[in-house]
Amino acid sequence: MIYLDNNATTQVDQRVLQSMLPFLEKFYGNPSGLYRSGRIARSAIETAREQVAELVAADPGQIVFTCSGTEANNLVLKGFSGTAGIAVATTEHPSVLETANIIKQQGRRVEYINVDASGEINLDPLTGLSTQDIGLVSVMLANNETGVLQNIQPLVGFCRRQGIRVHTDAVQAAGKIKINFNNLAVDYMSLSSHKIYGPKGCGALVVAQNSPLSPLLTGGSQEQGMRAGTENVAAIVGFGQAAEIARQTLDARTQKLLELRKFLETGLLKIPELVIFALDSERLPNTVQFGIAGIEGEMLLMQLDQKGIAVSSGSACKSGGKTASHVLLAMGVSPALAKSAVRVSLGQYNTLAEVEDFLASLKELLEMMKPIDYS
Ligand code: PLP
Repeated sequence: MIYLDNNATTQVDQRVLQSMLPFLEKFYGNPSGLYRSGRIARSAIETAREQVAELVAADPGQIVFTCSGTEANNLVLKGFSGTAGIAVATTEHPSVLETANIIKQQGRRVEYINVDASGEINLDPLTGLSTQDIGLVSVMLANNETGVLQNIQPLVGFCRRQGIRVHTDAVQAAGKIKINFNNLAVDYMSLSSHKIYGPKGCGALVVAQNSPLSPLLTGGSQEQGMRAGTENVAAIVGFGQAAEIARQTLDARTQKLLELRKFLETGLLKIPELVIFALDSERLPNTVQFGIAGIEGEMLLMQLDQKGIAVSSGSACKSGGKTASHVLLAMGVSPALAKSAVRVSLGQYNTLAEVEDFLASLKELLEMMKPIDYS
């Protein structure tokens, strides 16, 4: 299989797997236990906390482990304050947008921040808002579909002046670009393990000092009372190991991904009528989303699958559905072109030969597929 869907999830690094096994086989004690195997598990969690913190230049005490990036997003949006309203960008991940929807149904104010054609937010809609009862703004660092990077600094400055808290979903950005949590000056940041060659079902919310938060799950006093429940020790250890490797190899990985992306984009742009979305925007080094008017993205995806190539038509949660990408629609892309979207997200295990094979298969399929006339 040629796996080109690394924004959906990544293959677990062998070193990560090896680091996890002792905590499934031998040190299975409850990390709250006072006996030896419990203490070893506790100590491993604290090491992982340091490793994850270091990846984003945060303090270990600011890390709250969760069971996913989705949970981290839910925790902050539902738990930051009782009644205050929120503002979210229109291109956020469903774990933010759907949560915002629920908050709206509960009678709290929800505002949406638009992006321009390049996928970037501009401050104008926000500065035009009455921000009186807005308590939190949530804007992602990197988009999972287009890879567009947001420069959130002006937004953070604006919010700080208004006394509004800021959350950023860095699930796709972490491990792919350098992040400094304290320099970004946001209050909250979400992370996920399985996007960086760690295990699935593990994430974190980074919480700045004095930023309010109420837990979603109550019970034991784990994670400073912010996330009750016996910790998934092996997954947390794996997340820590993955974060450590990502930090140490960030520059080399970025270099390699940029080379592969350049090769891929050069090949794609030779295909008539093909459009690479947000081509001129600052993007993640591994992500390319493209479309060809009249070609159904889902259909192309299935044909590629038959050739043993895994890509996505947008966010993983939408695979199987036929709705056009909300991210592309928010950027003003026509529904017909948005429906043709295919996302290629490269990873550290991909090779130039695989990208070449992908391009050859794509061209072959496009020659066979008849464009659909949407008019
Ligand atoms: N946020 C973004 C930007 C994502 O891309 C994803 C996953 O695709 C998530 C949040 C959710 O993370 P998880 O899969 O750990 O729940």
